[in-house]
Amino acid sequence: MTSRESVNASAVRDAGDVKSWDLEADVVVVGFGCAGACAAIEAAEAGADVLVLERASGGGGTSAMSGGLIYMGGGTPVQRACGYDDSPEEMHKFLIAACGPEADEAKVRMFCTESVAHFHWLVAHGVPFKHTFYPEPFMEPPTDDCLVYSGGEDAFPFDRIAKPVPRAHKPQYAGAAGGFLMQKLVSATERSGARILGDARCETLVVDRQGGVAGVVVRHDDAERCVRARRGVILAAGGFIQNREMVARYSPLLAKCSFKLGQDGDDGRAIRMAMGAGADIIRMDAGEVAIPLTPPRRLMRGILVNRVGQRFVNEDTYYGRAGQECLFHQDGRMYLIVDTAIYERNLAGMTATHVEDTVEDLERSLGMPAGVLVNTVAYYNHHAAQGHDPLFHKNAAMLQPLTTPPYAAIDCSTDKTLWATFTLGGLHTRATGEVLTPDDAVIAGLYAAGRTTSGIAAYGYVSGISLADGTFFGRQAGRTAASAAR
Ligand SMILES: Cc1cc2nc3c(=O)[nH]c(=O)nc-3n(C[C@H](O)[C@H](O)[C@H](O)COP(=O)(O)OP(=O)(O)OC[C@H]3O[C@@H](n4cnc5c(N)ncnc54)[C@H](O)[C@@H]3O)c2cc1C
Repeated sequence: MTSRESVNASAVRDAGDVKSWDLEADVVVVGFGCAGACAAIEAAEAGADVLVLERASGGGGTSAMSGGLIYMGGGTPVQRACGYDDSPEEMHKFLIAACGPEADEAKVRMFCTESVAHFHWLVAHGVPFKHTFYPEPFMEPPTDDCLVYSGGEDAFPFDRIAKPVPRAHKPQYAGAAGGFLMQKLVSATERSGARILGDARCETLVVDRQGGVAGVVVRHDDAERCVRARRGVILAAGGFIQNREMVARYSPLLAKCSFKLGQDGDDGRAIRMAMGAGADIIRMDAGEVAIPLTPPRRLMRGILVNRVGQRFVNEDTYYGRAGQECLFHQDGRMYLIVDTAIYERNLAGMTATHVEDTVEDLERSLGMPAGVLVNTVAYYNHHAAQGHDPLFHKNAAMLQPLTTPPYAAIDCSTDKTLWATFTLGGLHTRATGEVLTPDDAVIAGLYAAGRTTSGIAAYGYVSGISLADGTFFGRQAGRTAASAAR
């Protein structure tokens, strides 16, 4: 495969050239991660004959590697049991702000309105949640506890936009729960009656004379097979973080991040297959960019500065927001500045790279322009002592003047520490899962969900939103495809 072939639209197969169909189903689901599983379950429960095609030997995908946080709210039983009063309106206000700019209003509205029902759907399909809160934010709890703050809901600017409540729910399993979640969803898919074919890599779409999608071409057992989809094909085959050429073309800054969050199947193939059938791709430059600065959160009493010693974000925000701000606006260069009263190793093992007795010496050893870091610290300390952060509005509880020498810098630049990333751009879909052309026309017979699409997270991100929109919009795509009359 040449590099150009791995970026461009993949040529479609003309249905007239298919001599015979090797397999048939009403709904054909490509990919068996969280989005594909939920699409298959919903379509099968709506009465469709469903076939899932998965390039790996079994289901799981990147979803099985994940922490398992699922963003849900509006008053779930877990939120209520933990004493948090939430509503779909507050959740909507938060997500529009945190996942924008340009968050898809129709998708966010439906997602928030039906979030409690989605929680019950997951429980009914075998995913348990403990009714407990875990106080350290952003990451999956190491215990089997459930609810965490995951998107900076309780920090500026979002604490002024919506009532701060935690919404990320982890299934009841100690530590990272993505594998556990997928075990439950794979079992539910099997129970639904959907057929599952592993080691089946889909390569291109089959298109009829009217331009509608009639099936897929798949490689299985070293042979090419044509699979007819009587009602529709649902693409749920992950994003493109493992396709170096696509990242270089669409989202080159993500290439700086050392840890690509995705298994081999995140090669953009399904996106390119749909492009061949005329699909639009949107927000291809967007990405989740997380630097595990915390836990512990108390480390964020220090300050984050750019390469010239200026602050650029409130440090108590979600570390994925700090990561996006730094990568996209500060060229991926950032230092965490602390004093002895604040310093400790974080969970990811980040340690001090520069230690000096004065801020002047620290500034010099970091090669920063004379006076900038000194002024940044003096200005910050002056206001922090009064419980204020006039520049970035860090919460008073997190403000602590840096006055106890020695002072240290932790170099958090992209080439110095682990930055984790995956792509957020993809196919343009309606909330129903229908795939659109650049003219906003629906492509008959083609649906998509999960990281193959641009979802709730347009440009911003909050932990838990990818599994949440994969499972939620996978279901919508499954239901729409099952009811398609063709
Ligand atoms: C370490 C880690 C932690 C994470 N933690 C979280 C978290 O806590 N919460 C959260 O929301 N997100 C998290 N994420 C991100 C999240 O896991 C993914 O974005 C999400 O699982 C994507 O789901 P999906 O169904 O779209 O894709 P996937 O789960 O990747 O499923 C796609 C499937 O399609 C298959 N496939 C690909 N190409 C083809 C083809 N051509 N033919 C047939 N099959 C194909 C793949 O093999 C795969 O099984 C994390 C990711 C990682 C790596």
